[in-house]
Amino acid sequence: MTNKPLKILFLAAEAVPFAKVGGLADVAGSLPRAIKALGHDVRLMMPRYGTIRSNQFPMEKIGNPFFISVGPEKERVHLIRSTMGGKSAQVPVYLIWNDLYFSSRDRVYGFEDDAQRFAVFGQAALAALQLLDWKPDVIHTNDWHTGIVPTWLKTEGQKDPFYRDVATLFTIHNLAYQGITGRLILIFAQMEYVTHLSVEQPGTVNWMAQGIAHADLINTVSPRYAQEVLTPEMGMGLASLLEKRKDRLFGVVNGIDYEQWNPATDQDIPHRFDAVGLDRRIGNKTALQQQARLPVRPEVPLVGMVTRLDQVKGMDLMEPVLEWLLEREAQFILLGTGAPQYHEMFKRVQARFPNRMRAFLKFDEVLARRIYAGADMFLMPSGVEPCGLGQMIAMRYGCVPVVRATGGLADTVSDNTTKRGRGTGFTFTDYTPEACQEALERALETYNKKPSWRSIQQRGMATDFSWSVSAEEYIKLYRQAIKVHGT
Ligand code: ADP
Repeated sequence: MTNKPLKILFLAAEAVPFAKVGGLADVAGSLPRAIKALGHDVRLMMPRYGTIRSNQFPMEKIGNPFFISVGPEKERVHLIRSTMGGKSAQVPVYLIWNDLYFSSRDRVYGFEDDAQRFAVFGQAALAALQLLDWKPDVIHTNDWHTGIVPTWLKTEGQKDPFYRDVATLFTIHNLAYQGITGRLILIFAQMEYVTHLSVEQPGTVNWMAQGIAHADLINTVSPRYAQEVLTPEMGMGLASLLEKRKDRLFGVVNGIDYEQWNPATDQDIPHRFDAVGLDRRIGNKTALQQQARLPVRPEVPLVGMVTRLDQVKGMDLMEPVLEWLLEREAQFILLGTGAPQYHEMFKRVQARFPNRMRAFLKFDEVLARRIYAGADMFLMPSGVEPCGLGQMIAMRYGCVPVVRATGGLADTVSDNTTKRGRGTGFTFTDYTPEACQEALERALETYNKKPSWRSIQQRGMATDFSWSVSAEEYIKLYRQAIKVHGT
């Protein structure tokens, strides 16, 4: 019984290769394929934005259009079938096509009516299942955009045998965005019966909170972050609600796509390498130093960073840390864009240490790969990190992570000092420049002991960060959600 293949609907606002804003798209584009590879019937559903064109992806209309009620109006929706993934694990993709709310819009988020738009998406997704005559065992919902779905299923959906036993999992990728809107949304979505939650401000609906309150199970994208969100400091106003549902809250670390991120086949790096051929890696360091117009010195430790320039990524620590680092025999390369004050800060430090650091203030996927493949250390001093992908990519590329032990960073990087020479990187706990420097200091010392350094690199490269491990974890959560559904 427990091995029965499951029928899973994966709902997300963004998914690679159709639309990408952030990490959610990476997860939605790769986790379903890993689940498919395990033999389950998983299908993805997402809106068809104006940027998703029929000359880029296979697209086939399914059946006749259907109508959903929004306030006093009816909205026409077409369902389109597409697909993602290679032959071995091809996942059906259904695109929700509505002109007013999605296809006339040229981006995923950032409109005044985002709450209405995703209410339409949720309603249309539920209605589309009837059109497909496909009843999933579980719907995997993601972030606030899909919070309406568990809410509807736990209330109105209980009246309809088609939906009654559909279980839900709600995954929190980013607790900072909660989809807070006025209660008029409930009239718009024909859901006036939805009760007010104590974490909601009077007169508002918080779709993240509603999703958390109504899903059968909830998870964050790492076990450590699942504990952190229960604290008032990191719960973003929802800690008390999450505490109430603590027995339903889990953590599953994200994976990275091992085909896409592979130093042995990466066409964007000058010298391909693997864990046994690590000597070849030095060519990438040289090329990176040249590209950054830094002195080409193989023995000098090179610290890299690829990040959004946002406060949560630890940017407030960086100026003193860089001043400290660059007084030493070390080099630093940053690739990132974001808040203007951090652009200014990196320019300021670069002006002081023009021969030691280079800040590339842009988004550049090729350069990102060259940094992972050529830098010696990868710095991630995040204040908050639900999972983090950078540190896992870095380890896959033999670049040793130096990270703050928070959220997914704590779960994926083990400290080489505490582990007595058996770790995969260097970690620090306090959110202070001094703590970060102390970890960098230990990394710099170890860097000079070549055999130790090499074994840290090799342990990182040997750790399995592929989706196969986490996909199994999700299957367990789906089965558990089905089991507890209705209790
Ligand atoms: P977050 O989702 O909070 O931005 P993650 O570490 O989970 O952080 O994911 C960041 C991803 O975006 C990584 O794959 C990283 O390589 C990539 N990235 C971030 N900034 C840049 C940039 N400026 N250029 C290229 N890739 C970037």
